Amino acid sequence: MVRAFTYPYQPVAAHLIPTRRCNLACTYCNEFDDVSQPVPTSEVLRRVDLLAALGTGIVTMSGGEPLLHPDLDGIISRIRHHGMIATLITNGYLLTADRIARLNRAGLDHLQISIDNVIPDEVSKKSLKVLDQTLRRLAEYAEFDVTINVVVGSAVRDPADALTIAGRAAALGFPTTVGIVHDARGQLVLLTDEQRRILNAVVGMGASLFDFANYNRFQRNLSEARPNTWQCRGRVKIPVCVRRRARALVLAATGLSRHSAGPLQG
Ligand code: SF4
Repeated sequence: MVRAFTYPYQPVAAHLIPTRRCNLACTYCNEFDDVSQPVPTSEVLRRVDLLAALGTGIVTMSGGEPLLHPDLDGIISRIRHHGMIATLITNGYLLTADRIARLNRAGLDHLQISIDNVIPDEVSKKSLKVLDQTLRRLAEYAEFDVTINVVVGSAVRDPADALTIAGRAAALGFPTTVGIVHDARGQLVLLTDEQRRILNAVVGMGASLFDFANYNRFQRNLSEARPNTWQCRGRVKIPVCVRRRARALVLAATGLSRHSAGPLQG
């Protein structure tokens, strides 16, 4: 990790998608389907080895729902074997006590759950009411760090939900990040004054240690239409989609690389 920050030619973080399939269907999400097969384990491990050879510091797995990959524990172990930090973004639905214990054994460093609302609605079922028991299980059994990501934006019916969820996370000892959720076309809608106030209140509650990309500051700048400044550390030109700002290198299931913008969903 220190190596990745010290040497400009090494990636700080890479984003690995072991499956595009998801067990939920949030209506604002354009990063999943319900038909894709998991990327074959041998191929995922080959990519992990390549990331290690590049000197990558952090490998984050998301999807789709990454817990649907049958060999996720082995993939995490391989990341840790190379001395890279392994992090996971999940919707939390599959986190039984046994699954948490397996993630402990695999050596997972950090996990993020994104919770969109307090009560499930037609947009999202990633809800505090459904996931509260999972949060309590994580507080009891997880040996890895846990961050709860809350969201504000047009897809959230009651913006005050973000404060309720962040408060519950704090009560269980979990730090919170906050994201601006996009619509189904991947576009952001300007925040209202109330949404901005809530976003700032959650930011003020403090960020996770794993907020290495300064995610909360990124979101606050976004909400105030202020630019985020970026610096190419590698001085290597990589094709970047101009509509989206680079945050992490993504190795997509197709094997092509692309750049991803926050908020990352799980
Ligand atoms: S936001 Fe996450 S949980 Fe919801 S459909 Fe997309 S990948 Fe699945």
